[in-house]
Amino acid sequence: MDFNLKKIRADFPLLTCEVRGKPLIYFDNAATTQKPKAVIEREKRYYEEENANIHRAAHFLANEATTFYEEGRKRIAEFIKAKHPHEIIFTRGTTESINLVASSFTERFLRKNDEVVITAMEHHANIVPWQMACARKKAHLKVIPMNEKGELRLETLPELFNQKTRIVAITHVSNVLGTVNPIKEIIEKAHLRNIPVLIDGAQSAPHQKVDVQELDCDFFSFSGHKMYAPMGVGVLYGKERWLNEIPPYQGGGEMIKKVSFAKTTYNELPYKFEAGTPNVPGVLGLHTAIDYLENIGFDNISQHEKELCHYAEKQLLALGFVKLIGTAQQKTGVVSFIIEGIHPYDAGTVLDHLGIAIRTGHHCAEPVADFFGLTSIMRASFAFYNTKEEIDIFISALKKVKKMFG
Ligand code: PMP
Repeated sequence: MDFNLKKIRADFPLLTCEVRGKPLIYFDNAATTQKPKAVIEREKRYYEEENANIHRAAHFLANEATTFYEEGRKRIAEFIKAKHPHEIIFTRGTTESINLVASSFTERFLRKNDEVVITAMEHHANIVPWQMACARKKAHLKVIPMNEKGELRLETLPELFNQKTRIVAITHVSNVLGTVNPIKEIIEKAHLRNIPVLIDGAQSAPHQKVDVQELDCDFFSFSGHKMYAPMGVGVLYGKERWLNEIPPYQGGGEMIKKVSFAKTTYNELPYKFEAGTPNVPGVLGLHTAIDYLENIGFDNISQHEKELCHYAEKQLLALGFVKLIGTAQQKTGVVSFIIEGIHPYDAGTVLDHLGIAIRTGHHCAEPVADFFGLTSIMRASFAFYNTKEEIDIFISALKKVKKMFG
């Protein structure tokens, strides 16, 4: 497909809205992306014409909803190149996907004094569940450090990956620094010691094609709402072998084969991990979002977003009063920065009054802010529907901010 920005933007109703009397410039895509009409319509159609609970009844609507839901699973398996659809578990999002593994995997495999390895640039969703698991099992959390550019210090791996390490959990792309981590290399190194690896793909799946078999990761998680799909639906990919070995996460309907008061046997994959009524319209919306993205083409998406990031960084540096946070060689999606002497919250508030939505704060990655000696950072995060003209307006707005506070 041709990459026609005007046509693409027209697919997103919210992009035509005004905020505080100004045309919206939405640079908070790493928090959540806007939704194309096709996705909104898909959810609406489900509730207007197809609504029924799945896997549970013999009637027409229930059968149809079940078929659509399972087609969604197949589509997602194909999208991330999983070997089997039953390796795709639907969750509420990345947070729940990681909690599932941090709970079930550690229940089975983590013992006293064992170690779990994460990195210095993780989102809280890939820190806290592991801390909780380590506390439960009296195990230890180890952290791969990073340098001032926001790149992982891989020379520490030989010491960190040792006979006590039970699992490694790493973000593919940092939501604050934009760093694209060399996960294939890290996975290879972990596998040399038979250590499984979970990848937090929340910030990579929206920007680049992912092939879980090529990466050879053991678990991969992502959120629908960060890739143009509805909120409340996410994915956990797990290699069949691990998913078969680890216990269920939650108990309830659907995840069982047979229940009696004396004993319960669990369902097969993937249902063993999907207790209760799932987000059926969310899955259908995610299916539609993936069709939409693949129609635009990930090569087009990556290229345009890369250009936006480079352009924004160049323009920000040209201002002369901005410091970039996160200057890794390999980056995608986000540009984080500070202005000496101006609190990000003040700057963010002025930008908001000009219709520009950026994020300020620690971005749910407090250790990253701490590393740079900061409590708050400004972040502009881009989607393929953003434009260079929007960046120009944003840069002019920052000049106003500097005049007001600087
Ligand atoms: N990991 C990363 C890298 C993220 O950016 C986010 C969301 N900001 C999450 C995990 C959590 O995602 P969710 O809130 O959709 O569960």
